[in-house]
Amino acid sequence: MPNKTAKVDPDKCIGCNTCPLVDPDTFELDNDTFKAIVKATAPPVNEKTETAVVSCPTGAISIVEE
Ligand code: SF4
Repeated sequence: MPNKTAKVDPDKCIGCNTCPLVDPDTFELDNDTFKAIVKATAPPVNEKTETAVVSCPTGAISIVEE
């Protein structure tokens, strides 16, 4: 089974802070760039992560298999 992880495209992210609110275990806003980043401690992709993907207003989050 490949691992699924979330990725944020910084060119698309507008720093709206939705994904850290929806899935705070996975996403946080970078203090310097004000763009979302995936935490090093992020748990496996789960329902909250999927909700964050569809909640992102710019489609900046994708789920990739590694
Ligand atoms: S929901 Fe999308 S635009 Fe908003 S902070 Fe997260 S990645 Fe950026």
